[in-house]
Amino acid sequence: GPGQARRPQTTIFTLMSALAQEHGAVNLGQGFPDESGPAHIVEAAAAAMREGRNQYPPMPGIPELRQAISEHQRHWYGLEPDPGDGVVVTAGASEAIAASMLALVEPGDEVIAFEPCYDSYKACIEMAGGVLVPVRLEAPGYRPDRERLRAAVTARTRVILVNSPHNPTGTVFTRAELEAVAALAVGNDLVAVTDEVYEHLVFDGREHVPLATLPGMWDRTVTIGSGGKTFSLTGWKIGWASGPAHLVDRVKAVKQYLSFASGTPFQYGIATALASGDEYYRDLLEGYQRRRDLLADGLADLGFTVHRPEGTYFVTTGVEAFGYEDGMAFCLALPEKCGVVAVPNQVFYADGQVARPEVRFTFCKPEAVIEDGLERLRRGL
Ligand code: PMP
Ligand code: GLN
Repeated sequence: GPGQARRPQTTIFTLMSALAQEHGAVNLGQGFPDESGPAHIVEAAAAAMREGRNQYPPMPGIPELRQAISEHQRHWYGLEPDPGDGVVVTAGASEAIAASMLALVEPGDEVIAFEPCYDSYKACIEMAGGVLVPVRLEAPGYRPDRERLRAAVTARTRVILVNSPHNPTGTVFTRAELEAVAALAVGNDLVAVTDEVYEHLVFDGREHVPLATLPGMWDRTVTIGSGGKTFSLTGWKIGWASGPAHLVDRVKAVKQYLSFASGTPFQYGIATALASGDEYYRDLLEGYQRRRDLLADGLADLGFTVHRPEGTYFVTTGVEAFGYEDGMAFCLALPEKCGVVAVPNQVFYADGQVARPEVRFTFCKPEAVIEDGLERLRRGL
């Protein structure tokens, strides 16, 4: 009936978190930390509320936050988005992705993205009337392949959507891999949209390289970030897009008709958060790297095939050892069987109905929760 065409389905995160509730399971599915970010950041948002900053913020975001985002990009990467017209604050990175696709993709345009990919990409590309052209990150390494990438380009290709560090595989694109993306974008006059929400979760001394820092890329790249991951405040839904004014203007033009603006007090909070010293980011990373090892080693001990992530807060595993070729079936059985929730990677593929043995667990949880989850798996599997 009306409204049915291309209607997106309930996301795996909603589905699996509901199962977690129903079974009182340890939720290692949907990626959200159990604990709030730093108290002084929460207090900054609360103070903004008490001070009466409770009406609409300026559509592109409060100046203090746009300034802080610009300064963050300069401090970490040497990028210099203009806080005036090169930064827009969005309702999470989610809205930045949606607005970018609606702004940059015309009906029939093709958008290249590496798959598996975050579930909103396909939905947003299709809402814009575009077509997702997936380029596989092939197991077991989940590296991007230059030839595969080149082969995906057609006369209809308009945008390349990159996510590094990559959800769900944890792949952190190397500079050389990003250079291949840049060469393709420059050679075919594509716009790049790069989702860098896990930019501060890059392990083992690796470097996060923003695509926009490569030669020829600044002028054709929209860079997306989020306060949710870096400051453990996923419920605040404060994200952003930055880049050259001519692209950010287009994203803004759409964004004003999606949410118009969002969360004034939370914007003050994230402005405070982005002023954190380098030691905040270092401590965050150390904590996550320890928990990555705890979860990855623990799952390997239990018999999972473990893909140790270079970044993000997810571990991709294979569940064949437990008699499953179908990760969805495994994840649907797991809450009742073990009291644990995970997410099947198949939902991150364009052919989302096809069964795959890969399953994702998150480690954005206190160590005691991860240990509890591992113990439940040990007893139940
Ligand atoms: N992109 C990726 C790769 C993500 O993992 C997430 C969060 N799950 C988002 C975007 C959305 O971020 P936000 O919560 O800021 O909307
Ligand atoms: N980004 C989180 C994940 O990948 C959750 C996203 C969501 O709930 N929509 O798990």
